[in-house]
Amino acid sequence: MMSSNLEKRRGLMLVISSPSGAGKTTLARKLMAEFDTVALSISATTRTPRPNEVEGQDYYFKTHDRFHDLVKQGAFLEWAKVFDHYYGSLKSETEAKLSAGFDVIFDVDWQGADALHDQVPNDCVSVFILPPSIEALASRLDQRPGSTPEMVARRMADAKAEISHWRRYDYCIINDDLGMAYSQLRNILLVERMKRLRQNNLAPHVRALLGED
Ligand code: ADP
Ligand code: 5GP
Repeated sequence: MMSSNLEKRRGLMLVISSPSGAGKTTLARKLMAEFDTVALSISATTRTPRPNEVEGQDYYFKTHDRFHDLVKQGAFLEWAKVFDHYYGSLKSETEAKLSAGFDVIFDVDWQGADALHDQVPNDCVSVFILPPSIEALASRLDQRPGSTPEMVARRMADAKAEISHWRRYDYCIINDDLGMAYSQLRNILLVERMKRLRQNNLAPHVRALLGED
C-alpha cells in the first residue's frame, strides 16, 4: 500500500474501458491494492452476479424496477445499457471520495466514458485497455469464473464495436503481459497526479517562495 497526503491534491476520475475480458477489472484491482488513495466507483447493475462476485464489492445488484427508480431519482452520474443489462455509476459512490482527495476508478463502457468526460472534463482521465489479440480475448473470457459459451459469444460479438471507440480515450494500453500493462497504468496515474492544476499546495508554496505571504 502506498499513501500520499490527501490534503495536497484533489482526486481525479480514472475512467477505464475495454472490450469485456481485456483485463480492466484485474488492472483496477492491482492499482487499489498498491495505492490506498485509489477507490473504485462500485456500479449498480441489473445483471446477475458471477459466482465469485460479492454484493457491494463488485456491484450493487438491482432488479430492473429498483434500477429505474434510481434513474428517476437522479441517483446516477451516468448510466447505460450494455449487452442486455443496465449499468450505472452512482453519485453517492464518488462525491465524498473525490472531495476527500481519493482518485476514483470508473470501470465503464464507452458510453459511460463519454458521459463522464462531458460532465467533468477537467477531473476525468480515460484509459482504454486493448487485448493482445482477438484469440487471447476469447480465451480470457472463456477462463473467467462463471462464463458460459453463450456469454462468451455475446461478449465477443460486441468486442469489435467497443474497440472501435478507442480514439476517444486519453491513453491506450495493450494488456499482453499483465506486469507491463500494470506498470503503464500506474505511470498514467502518477503523471496525471502531477498536473499543475491538481496540486492544491502549489500556489501557497510559490507565494511563500516569492515572499508574497
Ligand atoms: P474485464 O474486467 O476487462 O472484463 P478481467 O479483468 O475480468 O476483464 O479479466 C478477464 C480474465 O483475463 C480474468 O480471468 C483475468 O485473470 C485474465 N487476465 C487479465 N489480464 C491478463 C493478462 N495480461 N494475461 C492473461 N490473463 C489476463
Ligand atoms: P461486466 O458485466 O463484464 O461486469 O461489465 C460489462 C460492461 O459494462 C463493461 O464494459 C463494463 O465496463 C460496463 N460497465 C460496468 N459498470 C458500468 C457503469 O456503471 N456504467 C457504464 N456505462 N458501463 C458500465
